[in-house]
Amino acid sequence: MINISEQNLKEITIKEARAFHTSRIELSESALRKNIKFLRQIIGPNTMFCSVVKGNAYGHNIPTFVPLAEKCGIRHFAVSSAYEAFITRESFTRDSHVMIMGDIKRDAIEWAIENKVSFYIFTLDWLIETLKIAQKMGKPAHIHLEVETGMHRTGLEHRNLDKAIEILKSNQDHLIIEGVCTHYAGAESISNYVRVQEQIQKYMEIANELRRQDVKVQSWHTASSAAALRYPETIMDMVRFGIAQYGFWPNKETHMHYLMHNGNERLKKRVDPLKRVLTWKSRVMNIKRVGTGEFVGYGTSYMTSRDQKIATVPIGYFHGFARQLSNRGYVLVNGRRAQVVGLVNMNMMTIDVTDFPDIAVGDEVVIIGTQKKQNITVGSFSDLTPFLNYEILVRLPEEIPRIVVE
Ligand SMILES: *Cc1c(COP(=O)(O)O)cnc(C)c1O
Repeated sequence: MINISEQNLKEITIKEARAFHTSRIELSESALRKNIKFLRQIIGPNTMFCSVVKGNAYGHNIPTFVPLAEKCGIRHFAVSSAYEAFITRESFTRDSHVMIMGDIKRDAIEWAIENKVSFYIFTLDWLIETLKIAQKMGKPAHIHLEVETGMHRTGLEHRNLDKAIEILKSNQDHLIIEGVCTHYAGAESISNYVRVQEQIQKYMEIANELRRQDVKVQSWHTASSAAALRYPETIMDMVRFGIAQYGFWPNKETHMHYLMHNGNERLKKRVDPLKRVLTWKSRVMNIKRVGTGEFVGYGTSYMTSRDQKIATVPIGYFHGFARQLSNRGYVLVNGRRAQVVGLVNMNMMTIDVTDFPDIAVGDEVVIIGTQKKQNITVGSFSDLTPFLNYEILVRLPEEIPRIVVE
């Protein structure tokens, strides 16, 4: 895997040492291209595709994913902190832009202004503070005004809107409004339908007010993956795509909603327009024969019921493979599912391969993704654990090497 000459073996770099890891994560360029194409069809040619790469690009790794997305035509990225914005910028290979959708401190605001990184503003205090900093620096701040529409998390309160408008209108040299935005409180689930509708309406009222008062706004944006897929009216000048671009539906309901409304043919053929970008692979490290009635691994949670063949895989909860998957989860070996038996350890797990006659040490093990015709989705983890697909993804440690494949 790595190409190091002998004299260099004494001083390899961290980057080179990464090849020693017990697993790796492959990112498929063709899958990402297909997802972007599919999602672009949904939003149309006049809406900007913003790629959300918070949470280390949903576990895909910012330094690997961002250049790949740029290669696939993306030029606008969103993160949740100034630190992530920094990492994202470091990863740029094109003339791209990054927007911070979360908390930002004073010194980070100065950095953002200096580097034309745009950021959300959701209180009057921060608007005033940002204006002061921008004036002092003699440079404009590129801001996205996040307005409260009913999520009640962040968002400028309605009672402060007039004051904000006044400040924005009289300081256009220092406050450039790149966007006015909001976020929906659960667009992936029909149970939130009424609440989302109320939010859309509230946002429209605010937008009209800003237009009526002639506030210069460069873009209006509200939709995440689920909103864009379920509520077409939320697709405006820009859509902030997170989970869907990586090839995952926000939840099963969103997938079914799409199939029922758009995908009769697809429903029949079971073709999924979203392709998983990520495949997580490891290898069989050991194989053992264990007689009937023996316990496998720590404690007594698993007892063999016949003469069994047990394989060890060097992946454990340290790597994000949840302990809740003990005796429940499965992985793919030789193109078939193998059941996790015994407790998931920190750095290892044991799987039952009794009925795998050809299995050998070194065989590829797929933990997430496809092998031959079998597939393990992140969604299947959510069926077996309390974790959301989002949560499983962001738990994938940064240290596992990411490799771009075709
Ligand atoms: C995370 C996030 C998104 C992307 O959400 P997905 O469901 O992954 O598409 C969009 N907007 C904001 C404000 C977010 O925090």
